[in-house]
Amino acid sequence: MRPVSGFDLVVPETAEEAIAALQTLGPGEAAPLAGGTDLLLDVDEGRLTPRRIVSLRRLPWRTLDWNGDSLTVGSTLPLRSLEDDPQVRVKYPGLYEAVRNVGSVALRHRATLGGNLVRAAPASDLIPILLALDAEVDLVGPQGDRTVPVDRFVLASRRTDLRPGELVRSVRFPEPRPSDFLWQRVRPANDISQVVVAVAFSPSGRRWRVAVGGVSPRPTLLTEAAEALGNGRPNAAAVRRAAESASARAPFVTDRRASEEYRRRLVGTLLERTVARVAGAKVFPA
Ligand SMILES: Cc1cc2nc3c(=O)[nH]c(=O)nc-3n(C[C@H](O)[C@H](O)[C@H](O)COP(=O)(O)OP(=O)(O)OC[C@H]3O[C@@H](n4cnc5c(N)ncnc54)[C@H](O)[C@@H]3O)c2cc1C
Repeated sequence: MRPVSGFDLVVPETAEEAIAALQTLGPGEAAPLAGGTDLLLDVDEGRLTPRRIVSLRRLPWRTLDWNGDSLTVGSTLPLRSLEDDPQVRVKYPGLYEAVRNVGSVALRHRATLGGNLVRAAPASDLIPILLALDAEVDLVGPQGDRTVPVDRFVLASRRTDLRPGELVRSVRFPEPRPSDFLWQRVRPANDISQVVVAVAFSPSGRRWRVAVGGVSPRPTLLTEAAEALGNGRPNAAAVRRAAESASARAPFVTDRRASEEYRRRLVGTLLERTVARVAGAKVFPA
């Protein structure tokens, strides 16, 4: 058995106590713990060696709040609770699809949106749909509260704009959008996605959003592909142009899971399919 380096476990009751527990140690020496499905593996395998783990389980952030149609998801809410909410499925169908495709049911009883976002894995199944839905991250920290769009929060592979002592309190979705999410994996139930495509249409802005994940170090918004789709239900030529743009423009890499060429082709195909599914929504006049 491999020895795991020792750490203190702190279980604060308030955000202020959690921030203080993180702040008193140097960078990387204290780590927040939500579901632990990423963090505890990193500790077990020696990739992270925190001296202190700060559990977030007693903080009042396992919440799902509606303000009209806009949705705020507490960062420590298990993904399974998000997936089980009937309104999420209707108002944010792309989010529902992305969440229910993360790992297994057992995993989703522990894993959280906050943990997925802060981990910022290149093949995260959730970050692309957060980008497509223009989600915003609500942060609390030693310098107070701030809100950052997901596109500015995720900086690179496993790197975010989180500052020392800061925590993600919640993730906010401003408006319901017809949206969808598709992925390709070798083994569906227990594998990392080779390609993820998330698409949404904003009824208020009359614009599309297209995001890809799994293809490059950072999940990315594809603005040219989105513009090619126009301001409403796209015709076949517009969808083709968008798919070609996505295949040409996304920053693809080759790694052990798939080649650049395979990903390039797949992004175009998945984009066409997601747009076709979203274009059936009622917001588009018949
Ligand atoms: C078997 C298996 C299958 C998986 N399948 C998928 C999959 O299909 N798709 C996918 O996208 N991911 C998958 N994952 C990855 C993982 O489950 C997700 O990334 C999960 O959402 C992480 O959430 P968590 O609550 O477990 O995070 P944790 O492990 O608790 O934390 C992850 C990171 O975020 C930090 N953190 C957590 N919460 C906060 C907060 N509120 N504020 C600041 N920092 C915070 C932690 O310090 C840590 O660095 C899988 C993992 C496993 C083990």
